[in-house]
Amino acid sequence: MSPTIQELIAGMSLEEKAGLCSGQDFWHTKGIERLGIPSLMVTDGPHGLRKQKDDADHLGLHNSVPATCFPSAAGTASSWNRDLLRAIGEALGKECQAENIAVLLGPGANIKRSPLCGRNFEYFSEDPYLSTELAANHIKGVQSQGVGTSLKHFAANNQEHRRMSVDAIIDERTLREIYLSSFEGAVKQSQPWSVMCSYNQVNGEYASESEFLLTQVLREEWGFEGFVVSDWGAVNERVKGLKAGLELEMPSSGGIGDAKLVDAVRQGELSMDTLDRAVERMLRFIFKATENRKADAAFDPEEHHRLARQAAQESMVLLKNKDGILPLPKWGTIAVIGEFATKPRYQGGGSSHVNPTRLDDPLEQMQAIAGADVSFVYAQGYRLDSDEKDEALLEEARQAAAKADIALLFVGLPDRYESEGYDRTHLDIPVNHQALIDAVSGVQSNVVVVLSNGAPVVMPWIGQVKAVLEGYLGGQAFGGAVADVLFGHVSPSGKLAETFPVKLSDTPSHLNFPGEGDKVEYKEGLFVGYRYYDAKELEPLFPFGYGLSYTSFAYSDLSVSAASITDQDTVTVRMKVTNTGRVPGKEIVQLYVSDVQSSVIRPRKELKGFTKVELAPGETKTVAFDLDRRAFAYYCTELGDWHVESGAFELLIGQSSRDIELRTTIKVQGSVELPQTYHRNTLIGDLLDNPKTAEKAKYFMGKFGLEAALGDNPEMLTAMMRYMPLRVLVGFGGGSYTEQMLADDIAELNGLDKA
Ligand code: BGC
Repeated sequence: MSPTIQELIAGMSLEEKAGLCSGQDFWHTKGIERLGIPSLMVTDGPHGLRKQKDDADHLGLHNSVPATCFPSAAGTASSWNRDLLRAIGEALGKECQAENIAVLLGPGANIKRSPLCGRNFEYFSEDPYLSTELAANHIKGVQSQGVGTSLKHFAANNQEHRRMSVDAIIDERTLREIYLSSFEGAVKQSQPWSVMCSYNQVNGEYASESEFLLTQVLREEWGFEGFVVSDWGAVNERVKGLKAGLELEMPSSGGIGDAKLVDAVRQGELSMDTLDRAVERMLRFIFKATENRKADAAFDPEEHHRLARQAAQESMVLLKNKDGILPLPKWGTIAVIGEFATKPRYQGGGSSHVNPTRLDDPLEQMQAIAGADVSFVYAQGYRLDSDEKDEALLEEARQAAAKADIALLFVGLPDRYESEGYDRTHLDIPVNHQALIDAVSGVQSNVVVVLSNGAPVVMPWIGQVKAVLEGYLGGQAFGGAVADVLFGHVSPSGKLAETFPVKLSDTPSHLNFPGEGDKVEYKEGLFVGYRYYDAKELEPLFPFGYGLSYTSFAYSDLSVSAASITDQDTVTVRMKVTNTGRVPGKEIVQLYVSDVQSSVIRPRKELKGFTKVELAPGETKTVAFDLDRRAFAYYCTELGDWHVESGAFELLIGQSSRDIELRTTIKVQGSVELPQTYHRNTLIGDLLDNPKTAEKAKYFMGKFGLEAALGDNPEMLTAMMRYMPLRVLVGFGGGSYTEQMLADDIAELNGLDKA
């Protein structure tokens, strides 16, 4: 019989235990041969495998084995398709099994605080609910294949600027409702085998040594059962980190970290129990991975390429389509312009850089599906390796465009514009791409722009073109997918998972990004993404949740299972969606909740449900959303818990965050009342607002002959008295109301509230 984990730990030396808590090299955990403990390989992640053979690095510098490159998260997030994320996860899991990988490092659930963050292409959304739902499904998919994931980068790694030292200062409510929420659902729903702590500090503490994050929140509150791994090089003080809940240091520290742990145990600074706990978590992972290993696993690269093509189709967002110029006609001459048409930008830079199994060429793919009646003319337009305008290339583009029926421009952000490791400083496309749009739109009125970029760009040129298709970073099959969408083989069905601003200075974090020195304060608080644009009544270029289709949809018949619920109940919201156009399509229905009246500051509305439905022309389907307590709650720092305030909530069903089609109101009764304590400085207005103490408040107001005055101008007087503390009644009473009477009344009030 093989030994139990406890027996193994009992048989290990101190050095062996410490050794299990750090890597053997760049990508492997340590094995202990004499005890039959194998060494396992982990690798990036998230949207394809980056298994390196030699020359290991974590910046994507060296090549890796061929693997399917799926669209990056910014793209797959725009699909709003949980099943698709799961299917991609399954495919990734299969590729990991085939390559003997135990953990695929990802997905990334960091919130897009600013569109400038260099790594936004690898993250899902500005909204925590959307982000966590998609991350959860990615994880479920990968792990269904017996391969682990590492949900990263926990937490508040929302910029690349000074990423290994910056301290993100975030108030607790914002941290909980926005930045941690984006991880929470994924941890609770899908139990990732590991979580990767981020490089940065959060509120004065390195994430890698934050007991609050790694133990209190992650394990005790959310029930995480796996192990925590450091981002590559994120360990600051090894012993402190282990105590806080960081099990595995990566990559190998060449024995330095291990020696610190050994010393700390010898010096009595680290208990053996704490080290054993970490070792136990590592062993549980190692045995789980070993048991799930499929020795002769293989995958079909063609099948995965087809899935990558479907994923890319759903990742694109049609932003503008004037005069229905898209889909493109299957006759006439199309001038295809821009180097991206033959050298697509399909993935981001850094640790997620995949060596694709094959790569679709967009121009070739269009030629293959357009049919014999379309002739294509190609012009390079700009050089990818430079931002300089090239007059000869521009002139060639002008001529090609002038002679064609339609000009199709492939522009966006070259590789060097966005990557892990640094942020952008502006939201413009390169001047030579902009110059190309200017040149072509000067000679051709039918201009269609296809964008390839991992995060929003500004579009001062949008009035010059008829259509814009946001392609994001569409993975290795982007070329085929873009041909499918442009020629109408499929209708675009993506919607934005992030707001596109008119200009950089409109963005929520603009005044505080990327911070001063090693400190960045999240002063916009809860107002991230659409929460900010809504509250400021600011018109974005394109709002969160927006995206066009080749067909149209109508929403109707909104109903709720109950008009009044308690926060212990679940309410089901149903509505019908009909395809009212002429082609099949998929629609993303969004449900937002708005607290009609709240005693705390809340965003106007927040996404709490979404679903994607496929509909044939004329077809109607009923969709349903279940809302529980969390959909109505805010994080109450006084309670240290989520809290529902009793009252009315509006349920808003929209085609985007700015296009609400149906609405209804329900009443929710909270089950927990915030404890109130009354004292000398309690305000009369606060007593008036609480039904239990309102009578007493009126008694105070009436006590000093104020009723007479109330008769004259009750509103004004009530308004003025609202901000009076109880203690002033003693002074104003001129001796008729004593301190003792006040003390008795306060005692009575405290009794009333508890009644
Ligand atoms: C990145 C991680 C990545 C790791 C290993 C780090 O620089 O931040 O996302 O998983 O390297 O390559």
